[in-house]
Amino acid sequence: MPNTKKVVIAGAGPVGCCAALILAREGVSVTVLEAEADLIPDLRASTFHPPTLDMLDELGVTPKLVEQGLITPKIQYRDLDDGLVAEFDHDLIKDRTKYPYRLQCEQFKLTRVIAEMLKDYPHAEIIFEAKFTEAGQNADTVTVTYDTPGGAEEITCDYLIGCDGSRSVVRKSQGIEFAGFTYPEQFVTVSSPENVDEIIPDMGHVAYIAHPTEWCALIHAPDFWRFLFPISLEMTREEAFDDDYLQERLHRLAPYDGEYTLSLRTLYAVNQRVAETYRKGRILLAGDSAHVNNPLGGMGMNGGIHDGINLANKLARMFNDGEGDDLLDLYDRQRRPIAIEYVQAQTIRNKKNLEETDPAVRKQRQDELRAVAADQKKSRELLLQTSMFNGVEKSEAIT
Ligand SMILES: Cc1cc2nc3c(=O)[nH]c(=O)nc-3n(C[C@H](O)[C@H](O)[C@H](O)COP(=O)(O)OP(=O)(O)OC[C@H]3O[C@@H](n4cnc5c(N)ncnc54)[C@H](O)[C@@H]3O)c2cc1C
Repeated sequence: MPNTKKVVIAGAGPVGCCAALILAREGVSVTVLEAEADLIPDLRASTFHPPTLDMLDELGVTPKLVEQGLITPKIQYRDLDDGLVAEFDHDLIKDRTKYPYRLQCEQFKLTRVIAEMLKDYPHAEIIFEAKFTEAGQNADTVTVTYDTPGGAEEITCDYLIGCDGSRSVVRKSQGIEFAGFTYPEQFVTVSSPENVDEIIPDMGHVAYIAHPTEWCALIHAPDFWRFLFPISLEMTREEAFDDDYLQERLHRLAPYDGEYTLSLRTLYAVNQRVAETYRKGRILLAGDSAHVNNPLGGMGMNGGIHDGINLANKLARMFNDGEGDDLLDLYDRQRRPIAIEYVQAQTIRNKKNLEETDPAVRKQRQDELRAVAADQKKSRELLLQTSMFNGVEKSEAIT
């Protein structure tokens, strides 16, 4: 039975969809405004970490992802010159999770699964071609304005959640600062269907390959292998996507006597930023609208989903159990420091490790990784950190 509360969510990305599903299941009337005409076929994130899979399992989502994804129990750290350095198997943390692996499954599959599930709830809807433009609030309500092909529309609700991505109009409309920095390079991704583990027989399905200038994150997604690497800011899109240039880069990363089939290519500017607050009265931020980081380690969407689930559960407790809105301050206290101290710190470190220029430090890092891999207890600690269990646990411990 729906209660009388209403939440509007701006953005039907992974985070907005997860929050909407929880609210719908809890009987809360929820409207998701999506600027685009359909769910975007977004390939950006493909790594789902075990705690996220456990959380989504409680919503009945994970089995639907697993059937469309690729199970990757192991992660590798490599060096472009020296090859495999260390490999870690999530089997070591199987006591902590029903899903002791990384699931590679493109983020658009999650939004499609959830959009389908939302159809079971008459009090939940996604409105497409509905672009959030502004919001005003008083003590009791929020008035949300959005653009549609037919003109501007207005909707009144109890709370608004901005899940509208890194350029969040919700965040900007509330004058919330997004402090941090932009990296002085661009990141290219290029996908190829060639089986890189046949070309380089010991290549894992998730491999972080260190090198001062040619580092790479290589991910085997269900239908292709995706190379992610840096290029200079000066390079144009045409230069970055040039076939010969990409063939050369890929052949240096994974030498091959054939030609790579080059499928999807993308180019990103990459930022490390966190919003100065996740709450302004009845307006909340979650996901990329609240924090952005480099993709090394696969933490942006995962951390965003953890936000969305944390926040939606708190709203449901307020509406259904009569708890106070100080829960929303707790949301900010729990999730914002984790974005700074855990996700930002870890992703900055991940990049630094990959691009280390000092040969002595690079060698020391390799020795450290080998020592960790040789010690089960230390390997387990590393996996609890990289798979985000530590971040989730730390966040939940905040009161
Ligand atoms: C190359 C790359 C690889 C990545 N890999 C990973 C990974 O493996 N694992 C991981 O955890 N993260 C990864 N990320 C990060 C991940 O893609 C993002 O963190 C994630 O998409 C954030 O989800 P979101 O729902 O917050 O925002 P988004 O996915 O950006 O969704 C925002 C939605 O809001 C809509 N919207 C925008 N403006 C408005 C408006 N004004 N009104 C209404 N709707 C609006 C958009 O159309 C979109 O549908 C990667 C990023 C990159 C660049």
